[in-house]
Amino acid sequence: MRICKGIDVDSVILIVEDQATDAQVLSAAVSGLGDVHMASDGFTALALARQYKPDLVLLDIEMNGMNGFSVCKALKADPELCDAAVIFVTSHVQTDNELLALEYGGIVFIRKPLNLPVARAHIKAHLALRREAKKLANHDALTGLPNRTLLKDRTDQALQKARRSDVRVAMLLLDLDNFKSINDFGGHSIGDALLQEVAVRLEQAVRALDTVSRQGGDEFIILSPEVGAFDGLGDFAERLLACIAMPFVLQGNRYELSASLGISVFPDDSEDVESLYRHADAAMYQAKLDGRNRFRFFSTDIESGARGRHMLEQNMRSALEDGVFEVFYQPKVRATGALMVGMEALIRWRNRDGDLVSPAEFIPLAEQTGLIIPIGKYVLRRACLDAQMLIEQGMPVVVSVNISAVQFVEESFLSMVQETLRESKLQPKFLELEITEGVLAKNVQNTQHVLAVLHKQGIRIAIDDFGTGYSSLAYLKRFPVDVLKIDQSFVRDMLLDKSDAAIIEAIIKLAQALDLELVAEGVETQEQADVLQRNGCEIMQGYFYARPVPFSQLCALLDSGAMKIK
Ligand code: C2E
Ligand code: CA
Ligand code: CA
Repeated sequence: MRICKGIDVDSVILIVEDQATDAQVLSAAVSGLGDVHMASDGFTALALARQYKPDLVLLDIEMNGMNGFSVCKALKADPELCDAAVIFVTSHVQTDNELLALEYGGIVFIRKPLNLPVARAHIKAHLALRREAKKLANHDALTGLPNRTLLKDRTDQALQKARRSDVRVAMLLLDLDNFKSINDFGGHSIGDALLQEVAVRLEQAVRALDTVSRQGGDEFIILSPEVGAFDGLGDFAERLLACIAMPFVLQGNRYELSASLGISVFPDDSEDVESLYRHADAAMYQAKLDGRNRFRFFSTDIESGARGRHMLEQNMRSALEDGVFEVFYQPKVRATGALMVGMEALIRWRNRDGDLVSPAEFIPLAEQTGLIIPIGKYVLRRACLDAQMLIEQGMPVVVSVNISAVQFVEESFLSMVQETLRESKLQPKFLELEITEGVLAKNVQNTQHVLAVLHKQGIRIAIDDFGTGYSSLAYLKRFPVDVLKIDQSFVRDMLLDKSDAAIIEAIIKLAQALDLELVAEGVETQEQADVLQRNGCEIMQGYFYARPVPFSQLCALLDSGAMKIK
């Protein structure tokens, strides 16, 4: 029977007493000191003890059936229960009894009739000792963090839960780099103080449900239950390393530390506590080998995926700040007369080595992380400014800008476009937005509204990669579309593959019937251009006419007359 929920939730007290009045007095003596359970015979007492693992047992000696000594003996024989403090309660005063009780592992006697304040003081003192002992057994003495024993418990629990609810559990093993030299030169007191400081910082860097533990030496383990995607783990690891990398100031001296970190993940690369630990350790070792002050995943798959993406994202952020994104332009050419009628803005990213990174590589990640919003805004602004410049020089040209689905559903998208047009002074009729079929198929009402506003203003709408997506003809009627761009995959194989040729023919007929402008993408040869033109497609975009080039180079082409505007 559970009779009281104590203030100190940590302590569990079991009262074993067959006399109801005595039991009442005892429960008054412990009221408010913990969770109290009551048993009136030895068998019930053992059952309750196994269930609730009491810290303290108040045990009557004279009971019917199993007496107090036997109960104590049984408690002490059970490794899970043997640490409980047993206080005998008895009206006997024989020394023999007292000795026997101590022999069985009891710690003290309380005599009946009970002196309530004295009994309570005894009980409190023993509960405090027990708490201290428990803490010592489960915590690291230097930092106060959970130790290996408690970490194992918590990992077991986390794994059990993860198996039920299909979540991941990550173990991050963090080992300070070159810590030995600090101990050697600064002395152990500095070393200890640093470890304590590291513990504090790590605790501040983790979520409430994570466990930071110290394994001894300069090794810490962070248990992170309920992990979702891997990407977040990379960020988390980076944050932990960053919190160690901030200088420590002790007794007026500055210390700079770094750490190496290994990550293992259940169930992706580890199936139990042991393998989680072993794999995190191996990954940490790899981080050391790779030059320290970094993290590594145990699984190479996760490693290359998450780390690569993480680095790409970090680089992309700084690229945005440093302004190393550039906008290239690829002319759209009217085949008859070879006149440039428009140009498509295509983003380029020049990385630190000076190489161009393809948008196909970073646009998907930019979409996932939301970075596409500032990137897209940058491209649109650049494109409008550059087009306006050509127009002011007497070269009227429509500029096409790719708009990702993520941008399109952003609340501020319409106002962003408007603001950009105002700032660049570009007339709306010179701006064309390229969206994919996916945008039209999703969130129809919002799309309809946004497109209607844009179209009414005079901005042109093009469907990019036409034929590869949903290709629902219904939306061509429902939405205000001006242009279809035949996807380059059809153009590439149209001369070899009959079905690609047939698709192109069908798209051209469709565009003619609906009075839409047509652009063929990826035109690389004269033959392709000829066939397209014969079928009725006039406007071409592709390497055969021009590759995407920086704005300055496009201006040079126009200046030299190599490329002419209608
Ligand atoms: P896209 O919109 O279909 O752009 C056409 C792609 O085909 C461009 O690749 C272009 O360089 C390439 N291309 C042009 N002519 C030929 C040709 O004759 N042969 C071949 N093989 N390829 C040709 P790029 O510049 O690498 O861009 C790839 C994709 O990245 C684009 O496909 C577009 O979906 C996306 N993208 C580029 N810039 C932006 C941007 O500013 N915003 C957004 N949201 N997406 C962009
Ligand atoms: Ca495009
Ligand atoms: Ca395209």
